[in-house]
Formats: sequence, C-alpha cells, structure tokens
Amino acid sequence: MLDLAVNPPEPKVISGARNDWELVVGMEVHAQVASNAKLFSPSSTHFGAEPNSNVSFVDAAMPGMLPVINEYCVEQTVRTGLGLKAKINLWSAFDRKNYFYPDLPQGYQISQLYHPIVGEGEITVDLAPGIARKVRIERIHMEQDAGKSIHDMDPHMSFVDLNRTGVCLMEIVSRPDIRGPEEAAAYIAKLRQILRYLGTCDGNMQNGNLRADVNVSVCLPGSHEKYMETRNFSHLGTRCEIKNMNSMRFIQQAIEYEARRQIAIIENGGEVEQETRLYDPDKGETRSMRSKEEAHDYRYFPDPDLLPLQIEQEWVDRIFKSLPELPDEKKARFMSEFGLSEYDAGVLTAEAENATYFEEAAKGRDGKLVANWVINELFGRLKKEGHDIVDSPVTPRQLGGIVDLISSDEISGKIAKELFEIVYTEGGNPAFIVESRGMKQVTDTTAIEAIVDRIIAENPDQAEKAKANPKLAGWFVGQVMKATGGKANPKAVNGIVSRKIGN
Ligand code: MN
Repeated sequence: MLDLAVNPPEPKVISGARNDWELVVGMEVHAQVASNAKLFSPSSTHFGAEPNSNVSFVDAAMPGMLPVINEYCVEQTVRTGLGLKAKINLWSAFDRKNYFYPDLPQGYQISQLYHPIVGEGEITVDLAPGIARKVRIERIHMEQDAGKSIHDMDPHMSFVDLNRTGVCLMEIVSRPDIRGPEEAAAYIAKLRQILRYLGTCDGNMQNGNLRADVNVSVCLPGSHEKYMETRNFSHLGTRCEIKNMNSMRFIQQAIEYEARRQIAIIENGGEVEQETRLYDPDKGETRSMRSKEEAHDYRYFPDPDLLPLQIEQEWVDRIFKSLPELPDEKKARFMSEFGLSEYDAGVLTAEAENATYFEEAAKGRDGKLVANWVINELFGRLKKEGHDIVDSPVTPRQLGGIVDLISSDEISGKIAKELFEIVYTEGGNPAFIVESRGMKQVTDTTAIEAIVDRIIAENPDQAEKAKANPKLAGWFVGQVMKATGGKANPKAVNGIVSRKIGN
C-alpha cells in the first residue's frame, strides 16, 4: 500500500536575522456538504438562486421554529470520516455557539464543540513521487453555515442574502503536522480530491464550498519533534489564525508572509500575539482582525432544541461498504496493474472521471501506451479548449481503437496523431477512417526499397557523404517519410536505409 511509502520531506526553513526557523501549520477546513437540503431545514442548497429565495422559517429563525436534522447530511459526514480513516462517534451532540452574525438570524451557530461526530483520522499528502507526509485529522464536526452580507452594492445600505444560512458544513480540523506553504496547498488538494471521490463536497473553492482557516506559528528547529514526543503545544510557538482562505495560491502566500512577520517580531524581542488575521491578496499581507477568542467567549452550551445524535454501528458499516475506491488505493492499483509510474498514476487518478476514462480505454490493452495517449494527447487537447474529460469528443472506445492501430503496426505514431485529430474534430470509427482514407502504414518492404533506391539515385553526393558518416543516414529516412506522407513504417525504413548506405 502507498502508506508504506510515506517519506516526509524536510520541513520548510526560513532564515531570520539571527536564527533559522521552522513553520508549523494546522488547518480548519470548512467543506460544504453536497446535499439538496440544509442541515436543519428543507430549504434548497442550490447555488446561484435568487437572493433569499431558499429561506425557510427555520433559516430565518422565526420564533417557535424548531430545527430537524437532515439524515443525509449526517450520512455524508460519516462517509467523509470513513474516507479519512477516522473514528466515527456513534454518540455526538450539538452545541450553540453564541455570536453576532448579521447573516445568521438565530444569533448563534449550531455546531458540535464537545462531542463531534468524527474523531481522529489521517490524510497522506503527496508532495512529489516517492515523497509524502501523513497529516493527522483531529476531528470533523457538523455545523451551520452563515449567509452573506453584501456591502458593495449601494453606498448607503448593506444587503443580506440568507440562501446559504443553515447549509451543512463539515469542519475538518487537522493536527499541526503541516510543515510549509507547499504542503499546506498539497494538503488542501488531497483533501479536496478525497471529498470529490466520496461525493460529499464538490470542492468548488471559487464558490466558497471549500475554504480554510490556516493556523501558522514558527519555532526553532527540533521543536516540532519535542512537541510530537510530549504533546506539549508550547514547543510550537504562538499561532495566528488566517481566516477564510479559498485559494491555494493565497494560502501559500499568506503562510509565507505570516511566518516572516512572526519571525521579525520574535527576533526583535517581541512576542507574537494569538489572534485572528485576514489576508489581503492585493497588498500581499495579513492584518489583524480580532484578538483570538477562546471557546468560553462564545458561551457554548448544548442546544436544547436538538437531542443528542445516536447512530448505529450497522448503519456506519453499510456506509463503509458503499465507499468507492479512494485515490491512494486507485493510484497504487494503477501502478501495479498497468505498470504506470507514480507520476502518471497520480495524473490519471487526480479526478475520478479521469481514472474511469483511462480504465475503459486501457481494458485489454497496453496500459502504458494508453496512459501516454490520455495524458499527452487527450488531456493536452482538452485543456487547450477548456473542456472537461466528461465532455471529451473522443470516447474511451475511440481512443482505445487508435491505440490498437498503433499496437498492430497498422499506423505510425505520426499518422496516429493525425488520426486522433480527425476523430477529435469529426468523430468516427478509427479503423474505418484509416481504411477509407488510405492512412495505413506501408510495411511492404519492396515498395519502401524502391523509394529508397530512387532517393539515393537522385542524391548521389548526399549518399556518398552518408556512407562516410552514418549519422547522415537520418536525412534519407526523413526523405522517405516525406515521400510516403508519413505512412512508411519507420522501423522498415531505418533498416533498408542503413542496409543501402552500408555501415
Ligand atoms: Mn467553524
């Protein structure tokens, strides 16, 4: 299993004026559960609806309204926990987090502070072929999202859109195991990939369906090891939390900036203050938002409107059995079953749809050859036109057909590219196209030999030179290919040319 290959990189080191410093990063990711209805109301979660059209009395917090839990949201969260190899807590409970949100009319968020539904798990974060870091998950809890305040539509008024109010979020909390900005981005990418495989969150960061609060601190080299031994957080330095990041690039920039800011404070004899900060991508800096609240500031208490949540082990087992093959397993299988490199297997399993396409095309064929065609030709072409694999004009069957014609030596690699282009733009059965358009490779050695003889006869000087210097034989190969419109079998041409030129 790929897990055995975990081989963590050195942590990122930043040199200050006096010392070298290491980074420590922990993440709290809010992932919107893929469900049709909200966590405690039947309102639609559809993105892009008319403002305030998906708001029930429960979401608007009308007096006397009571929340009713959405079983499917629970199932999705359990599925996520299982996908992250985490412990599922059969008994969990909801708490009120009291806070003034202009876009959450209840005046509190229903969350799970004391008894989250999912406990400890882990993610293997791939950094480069053969290099990965295991990041521990501390917990996952369910909670309500808030709505959206809009301040830039009118100079005198603010607007509020409650469509998002009450949508189910999974808050996925990592341990401080991430050791640099690139790792932080890779962690988000891997988490997003797993969630998309599971179908529990669409991972659309642009729409805010996946966003991260990033905790950053700096410590002297060796301190993280001490923390791992003692589980004493004081070894990790004081952290700051950068709120609500929904871009991988900004996450990396913010971590880098924040680490340097903290290093400067410490090296100048100051102390880092624990606080919540915001990243300003225009200025490329983080700035203070508020001093860090502690749990007691929110006056958490068990929500009296909701009974504790008790689920059955048997139900959890059933969800476990329904899990799809996940990225790590699929990648390892592609490597062993098709003999692919870790890199190629990683590209093909990045999205479940890519993997399905590849497997259909590779069935009963040379997996490496099919992988090359999918990655280099098909993905390249789709990317150029901004297409997704799901709307690829070339079906797996057609691509497999092209590969068959190459494998059986019926067409050359050069012609195969032309054929691919025809299939991509016009469609059709590859074998039929080759037949009807006379694209078959010329393997008839007598025919090739005649052409070689003619070209040698027409270029006696060139032939003399090539006899003295075999490297020049390539020129004749090129001429033969040109004369046959690329259809001559290159292997046969090479053989005949070198025999005729004689070396
Ligand atoms: Mn939260």
